[in-house]
Amino acid sequence: MVVKRSYLYSLLFLKCPRCRQGEFLEANPYKFSKMNHVCERCPKCDLKYSIEPSFYTGSMYVCYAVGIAFAVATYVILLILGMADDPLTIFISIVCILALTFPYIGAVSKSIWAHLFFKYDPKIAKEVNNDTRN
Ligand SMILES: [Zn+2]
Repeated sequence: MVVKRSYLYSLLFLKCPRCRQGEFLEANPYKFSKMNHVCERCPKCDLKYSIEPSFYTGSMYVCYAVGIAFAVATYVILLILGMADDPLTIFISIVCILALTFPYIGAVSKSIWAHLFFKYDPKIAKEVNNDTRN
């Protein structure tokens, strides 16, 4: 069976960038005690997620861009709904959306950062998929 998991699936559902099957985070991003803790290694293909100390510090730049994207998307949705007349409504809406999604924004930013540095390997993905131990 051929593994068919897309780049976008792996990115958005926080999967390993190399095999696209193993979990990337230790827990759900909304579990605040382990918020955005990246696993040391992929549980499926054993990829070491952190190639150097403070590797994920750079993901804060990605986090900023993703936050802006969420804010712009909120504004566009308000425009479509015809609710973008009052600047206070726009501001409160954007703040609420960012407050609700910040754990996921942080997690997906780390995932994007990892996907920039680790490439998908279909051979390893197929081996991992056929391995029934995990
Ligand atoms: Zn993996």
